[in-house]
Amino acid sequence: MIVIGAGLGGLALAHGLRRRGVDVDVYERDAHPGARPQGYRIQLDEPGLTGLRECLPAALFELCLSTAGAPPARVSVRNRHLDVLADRAAAGGARTPDAIGPRAFDRPTLRRIMLLGLGDRVHHGARLSAYRHETDGRVTACFADGRTATAELIVGADGVNSAVRRQLLPAAGVEDAGLRLVYGRIPLDDGTRRALPSWVFESIFTVLTDGPEGAHLGLGPVEFGTRPERSGRALTPPVDLPPVGDYVACMVGAPTGHPAMPAFEDLRTLPPDGLRDLALRLLGGGWHEDVHRLLDRWDTASLFPLRISTAAAVPAWEPGRVTLIGDAVHAMSPVLAMGANTALRDAGELSRALADPAGRGECPVRAVGAYESRMRDYAFPIVADSRRTGRRRVGQQ
Ligand SMILES: Cc1cc2nc3c(=O)[nH]c(=O)nc-3n(C[C@H](O)[C@H](O)[C@H](O)COP(=O)(O)OP(=O)(O)OC[C@H]3O[C@@H](n4cnc5c(N)ncnc54)[C@H](O)[C@@H]3O)c2cc1C
Repeated sequence: MIVIGAGLGGLALAHGLRRRGVDVDVYERDAHPGARPQGYRIQLDEPGLTGLRECLPAALFELCLSTAGAPPARVSVRNRHLDVLADRAAAGGARTPDAIGPRAFDRPTLRRIMLLGLGDRVHHGARLSAYRHETDGRVTACFADGRTATAELIVGADGVNSAVRRQLLPAAGVEDAGLRLVYGRIPLDDGTRRALPSWVFESIFTVLTDGPEGAHLGLGPVEFGTRPERSGRALTPPVDLPPVGDYVACMVGAPTGHPAMPAFEDLRTLPPDGLRDLALRLLGGGWHEDVHRLLDRWDTASLFPLRISTAAAVPAWEPGRVTLIGDAVHAMSPVLAMGANTALRDAGELSRALADPAGRGECPVRAVGAYESRMRDYAFPIVADSRRTGRRRVGQQ
């Protein structure tokens, strides 16, 4: 099988298929895992952790968990004066008795761990441009550098601007969610942790919002259970994980209609200190002094801009030899922190379906159809829920 995209969804699927004895190659456009900013914190709850556990070898799943932080499992929404507007248990669906979540992971560390054990089956520097159907029923992936690869099935795990989706479901677009973010980190050491307001550490994620037309600030602590480099060394055989210290992920956002928010073409060209100035303007007069204490400690070099997209609902389609998982089919705004959770759930569902006796035969189409039908049922309601919550809280369109 061929997986396009070595993000969280694609890597989980590759592990899930290998565990079940299915031969798989992953093709990723980036030249190497650190080629571009991937973001910082990622919160996984029941669906994501269950998908991850189902796909990864047990030792790698334990390695992931050992590096994750476990802040209080609450999400807090406050206004610019810090008055609490809502305080709820972190999202994530029904809890099973052995539920672990939620956990706060460092995304680059999680991705590094998920690359372990796949060896030379992950091909970097391979950008899919198109695919074609062969007369024997198989499908061929065609890459921008002229390479091709043929298999029984192609899975598009290639994210929000998926080339696979564009060819498979040309009518299924993604929409601009009308939100722009400046995303970065506040590094934590003992001194900084004491200097920061305690409310930052009382929830797994806190949003301060000035309402749907105003700016917002999102904060999520990532305090490692065990430092990744130490967890890696404790494994048999030991693995090298890049050292990383605790931090608070910190994002400042606003809707596109906000008078201080530039067009994305201008936002993306701002240098880090320009992004910082913009964030300070967005959270100018009237915000609680704690907000400024926090932004004073933002690591300017860590800042980068983001445009948020969301998928339009897709009517059911005929299953075939090409399918989709994750943001490639159901991109959603980060408001509920469910995008990666759902991508990992997809990976578990699809690898299980393909390993069933029906999916193991010559033709995987029935297994693909069963997966797609379930996925549409659980994923698109979450996209809609993210949009509703985003509209109410932070001015998503
Ligand atoms: C600020 C922010 C915070 C978030 N926080 C959370 C959170 O806390 N919890 C949560 O569950 N979700 C969160 N999300 C959502 C989450 O990041 C995504 O849903 C998740 O990364 C989707 O995983 P994926 O594997 O489907 O796609 P991606 O992670 O986007 O991976 C796609 C991969 O495909 C590759 N690719 C793209 N095109 C091609 C091509 N043509 N050929 C080959 N390779 C290609 C890309 O380089 C990439 O490596 C957040 C999103 C944002 C923006």
